[in-house]
Amino acid sequence: MTLDDSPTLDPKDWEEARALGHRMLDDMIDHLAHVREQPVWRKMPAESRAAMRHAQLPREPGDLREAYAAFQTHVQPYTAGNIHPRFMGWVHGGGNVVGMLAEMLAGALNVNLAGFSQAPLEIERLVIRWSAQMLGFPSDAGGILVTGSSLANLIGVLVARTAALGSDVRSQGVGNAPLRAYTSAQAHNCISRAVDMAGLGTEALRLIPTDADGRMDIAALIDAVANDREAGNLPFLVVGTAGTVNTGAVDDLAALSLFCRREKLWFHIDGAFGAMAMLAPSLRPLLLGLSEADSVAFDFHKWMQAPYDAGCILVRDAAAQTATFASPAAYLKGEARGLAAGYPWPMDFGPDLSRGFRALKVWMMLQVYGTKRLGCVVEHTCMLAKALAARIDREPELERAAPVALNIVCFRFRAAAGDLDRLNAEIVADLQEAGIAAPSTTTLDGRLVIRAALVNHRTRREDIDILVDAVLKIGRERSGRIVPAVLSYAHLAIPAFAEPYYAIAI
Ligand SMILES: *Cc1c(COP(=O)(O)O)cnc(C)c1O
Repeated sequence: MTLDDSPTLDPKDWEEARALGHRMLDDMIDHLAHVREQPVWRKMPAESRAAMRHAQLPREPGDLREAYAAFQTHVQPYTAGNIHPRFMGWVHGGGNVVGMLAEMLAGALNVNLAGFSQAPLEIERLVIRWSAQMLGFPSDAGGILVTGSSLANLIGVLVARTAALGSDVRSQGVGNAPLRAYTSAQAHNCISRAVDMAGLGTEALRLIPTDADGRMDIAALIDAVANDREAGNLPFLVVGTAGTVNTGAVDDLAALSLFCRREKLWFHIDGAFGAMAMLAPSLRPLLLGLSEADSVAFDFHKWMQAPYDAGCILVRDAAAQTATFASPAAYLKGEARGLAAGYPWPMDFGPDLSRGFRALKVWMMLQVYGTKRLGCVVEHTCMLAKALAARIDREPELERAAPVALNIVCFRFRAAAGDLDRLNAEIVADLQEAGIAAPSTTTLDGRLVIRAALVNHRTRREDIDILVDAVLKIGRERSGRIVPAVLSYAHLAIPAFAEPYYAIAI
């Protein structure tokens, strides 16, 4: 792409940019349309790594065609692979074409959504209102879109802190106030990080044990709060989890909500992926009580399949949220008219000033898919989890390691002898390196287990069987200590891989 003579960044010839843009768009549509035929993951080769690590800072203008060629060669094939139907690791969303196109539109508008009198702000407000409706929150609830649930949970903790200590905490700090928060031992570690970043110290967070289903033990919570009150501490916050990251367990949100109201504690819910089960009629009853919370953090980029990144925080009492973040500044003064009208702005609801137009992709996706289709995706992945659990229960060499509440299945390959933690970790690494499937691992009751989180809207029943067949095959080979010359998974309908991916010494 040739640049104009004047020092602008616009091209000299817009037609050249247009042609290249069309090609990129075609390539990316092909990429999405044919993702199933690709391996889930490919390790980034040394040459590509070197191309990144040794590249010099460009001083002179270059060619967009070359930059794009470098993207195609070194970047595009070597992502983590979460758009692939057999990516089942961690809890990742699969993305979608509507979201991808919306990202391009948002990129062209290059909106700064700190605020301002502009249509994109109304889109974000609409997305917040729709979110409130999806979760059964009042339509005037406060909220903003953020990077993800880590930040959304931090905002929840900060709003609860300000509600507990009053807005003086913003000038005086928490000082020695003995604030105490409670969450389950299965909560995501971003809750502990949020308590840390809020200046409370992680010891202010009590990790309440869970029952056999991975749900917070309410009796233990009641005891912990009573003990803290007796010791002169200041309980202020309970964080419930709707969908734990390990097993998908959902706390008894209705009981937590009642308890918090009685004890005058802020009730926040980490619903990073699980909150979206509200869109699935068959799963909704599991989340009873979610709509009663003071605040909820959740992601659009997981079960809702929005392209990264898009998280959301909703706060029942919008005034509590602005009381935590709004601050006067001469250069950011609200006006009755003109561009600076229409306060409060998103910058009054969270820590960011400059912000992108995340709301556009969510708004477009909701129009194209509707909450019904998105709810179907949620329901379908839970059905696949049930099918996977049933298959595991039928296979004598496999054992299930946790109940299946939603879409996460934890299991192990069993062998008569040997280090089963190591064997299962190696099965997972083999699956990933062969590009067949990408589950991850976690530790439950001190044992390493294979964890398949079914989040991707592209995953089908046959993918479940491919995963199980491959786990069995690799497990048998590894526990039988067979040394394959070149392992081929051609029978599993995966493209053949040239390199042998492992060899064990006997
Ligand atoms: C993914 C996840 C988080 C963190 O959310 P991010 O969007 O990755 O910041 C928090 N809690 C749970 C239960 C999660 O699954």
